[in-house]
Amino acid sequence: MPELVFDPLGRRHVLLAPERAKRGAPAFDTSPPDPDPCDFCGGQESRTPPETYAVRDEGPPDSPGWRVRVVPNLYPATPFHEVVVHSPDHYVHFEDQSAENRMDIVRTYRHRIRAAPTRSVVAVWNRGRASGASRSHGHGQLFGIDELPTIEREVEAFSTSDCVLCAFDLDVATCGAFRIVAHPVPFVAGELLVVPPHSLALDDDQVPDAAEALAVAVRATLSDLGGAVPFNLVVHTAPRGAERFHWHAHLMPRTATWGGLEMGAELPIVAADPQETARRLSSS
Ligand SMILES: [Zn+2]
Ligand SMILES: [Zn+2]
Ligand SMILES: [Zn+2]
Repeated sequence: MPELVFDPLGRRHVLLAPERAKRGAPAFDTSPPDPDPCDFCGGQESRTPPETYAVRDEGPPDSPGWRVRVVPNLYPATPFHEVVVHSPDHYVHFEDQSAENRMDIVRTYRHRIRAAPTRSVVAVWNRGRASGASRSHGHGQLFGIDELPTIEREVEAFSTSDCVLCAFDLDVATCGAFRIVAHPVPFVAGELLVVPPHSLALDDDQVPDAAEALAVAVRATLSDLGGAVPFNLVVHTAPRGAERFHWHAHLMPRTATWGGLEMGAELPIVAADPQETARRLSSS
């Protein structure tokens, strides 16, 4: 029987169904089709709103010569909503970029999270059609909103004297000072957490390890579930004014489709055995 389990970090329940974990992963719909070149490709800068930030080798704003480029979302979903384009190259994925490019990307998120006027900001990457991605060019989004229930629940989780996240111990890999752990009460099967040393938000000196750890976590998931597995990567960082928090990223592979229990009772059935996830990914 699946077991109703409380997630001490997300402060919500899931139905853990480890015996269902042995079912193979389904086939995935591959990336959404894109026009070539797309709006995010190098040379197409006039097709987006003016950039709010860029890492550039050359050229004035809104011209080619950038490595990472940030533009406001054309149809904002939240009071602060920006798109971070990871490369002018349509076909390169974060985990295949150079270490230097990955650090540029991570620094860009850090910069824009600090620039957001809202109490909370979440950084989100969607890859694959089932993840909600509407295009395949490597990019992420920043959603800023003052009262974000997920973040406020985590603030509550971190209000205790012992950090709930530091206690998670289903280790998969280590990248410098960062750990990659299997979530002990995953919201989706195979969920990983990228866990830096305990800190409110990404520090400048954490950038190299953060860039490497994110790439390692993505590679581990792709090698476990197949290169076409859709996923969401979500960064949770301390909201403005919070004194206790431990920033982290959730890597959530999208191998299951939600049914009526999820939609009607906010209760996901998670076909996973977190210990087994940690064992499998740490040996791969
Ligand atoms: Zn493109
Ligand atoms: Zn901690
Ligand atoms: Zn979180």
